[in-house]
Amino acid sequence: VASVRACAALLAAAVALCAPLCSAIAAPGVTPVPPPENQALARDILRELVEVRSVHDVGTAGVAKLIAARLKTAGFADADVQVLADPKFPQQVNVVARLRGKAKGKPVLWIGHEDVVEAKPEDWTVPPFQLTEKDGYLYGRGTADMKGPDAAMLASLIRLKQEGFVPDRDIIVAFTADEEVGLEQDGVWWLLREHRDLIDAAMVINVDDASGRLVNGKRTHIEVETSQKIYVTFLLETTNKGGHSSLPRPDNAIYSLAAGLTRLAAFQFPYKTNATTRLYFQRMAQMKAGRERADMLAVVGPTLNEAAARRLAADTAHNSLLHSTCATTILSAGHQENALPQRARATVQCRIMPDETPEGTRQTLVRVLADPSIAVTIPDQVVSGPESPPTPAVIGAVERVVRSMWPEVTVLPSMVAGASDSLFTRNAGIPSYGISGVFEDALDRREHGRDERIGVDAFYEAVEFDNRLMRATSAADPAP
Ligand SMILES: [Zn+2]
Repeated sequence: VASVRACAALLAAAVALCAPLCSAIAAPGVTPVPPPENQALARDILRELVEVRSVHDVGTAGVAKLIAARLKTAGFADADVQVLADPKFPQQVNVVARLRGKAKGKPVLWIGHEDVVEAKPEDWTVPPFQLTEKDGYLYGRGTADMKGPDAAMLASLIRLKQEGFVPDRDIIVAFTADEEVGLEQDGVWWLLREHRDLIDAAMVINVDDASGRLVNGKRTHIEVETSQKIYVTFLLETTNKGGHSSLPRPDNAIYSLAAGLTRLAAFQFPYKTNATTRLYFQRMAQMKAGRERADMLAVVGPTLNEAAARRLAADTAHNSLLHSTCATTILSAGHQENALPQRARATVQCRIMPDETPEGTRQTLVRVLADPSIAVTIPDQVVSGPESPPTPAVIGAVERVVRSMWPEVTVLPSMVAGASDSLFTRNAGIPSYGISGVFEDALDRREHGRDERIGVDAFYEAVEFDNRLMRATSAADPAP
């Protein structure tokens, strides 16, 4: 394996020399990787980052220090390496780096979070806060989510600097705090509120999460995340004056709520598509056959075919793409076995389509529950962001880079049901795209789990991918 990689590195070095002129070249069957010294740099950075236990309680100061030092050693001016923390959370430190360009348009902002989810050594087969190479993989907490992608991004930025590359537009790279626990101490959100000038951009590339999918070891497609469903939790509540259970009455807080929930269980939000899911199903259809293929093509037309949508929705993953969904997740009621219930509560967790609103959804729930005695409220703050359109300019730029590395791979825009920092940048009005060059086994994803890892080759390929995508997206034209 090592000799194959060395050979690939030589080839890649040759390709890199002519990259600006002939970036479309990919040697048949060999995926380009960065020159050996850039590979070594990326791996050194990854090792350093994994060794810092940057979990929520500890913060990201240690990671930020390493990243800033690497940037300065590589020749970035002090003014272009900003190390910043919210004074309220001094251990949650962010680094914002800038590679200055020719000012031909607004900058492109790349983001990656520095924090990781906790890992207990006793649960792992290797030490979680140490980089271990085994069986073709690099193991350690954060190797996938997302110190691997962070190291790739940093090594690529440093390589551009060393190559003397001057982009048309500034490339800003922000390494940020506390994505995993979120809201209050989230670095991206804080930077948008307090230091918008430092990170203001025409578009965002968020390298969180592996975008490439392997099925049986074979690369199938790369997903470009263009939108997220909105996370909204509703509280349903009935109250009653209660009384002695020996003297029951027809009015009962539990029965009222239960009857409403039964009506909710029978309800479905209408099927719909958006620019992202239409392109997703259209391209996914090309990888399918028969009925499934026909159904996918039938939901992307000008009028959505209901029967086709219903058949596709039998797959829970497709179901989540085709409409807003709500699920009752918690139920609690009553206070003693011989007392009539004074209160009954249900938690209803919804993932709504990006063009819908929490208040609109609340009104739908009120209508479906069809009982004015059931109060429906939204207890927590909701952050939402619109779909970032999968424009030909952006998707085209990604496709050209993907084709130059993996000619067989399809690019699929995607809407996800989970949340990332792109939520905040979209909320702030900046079109944001979730894309990394990391390929992962679709059935063995270990982010947040035990023995987290990234393929050794997959890691170096991702470093090369970032370098090419930084070049491509910082050109004057591919603004969305
Ligand atoms: Zn992540």
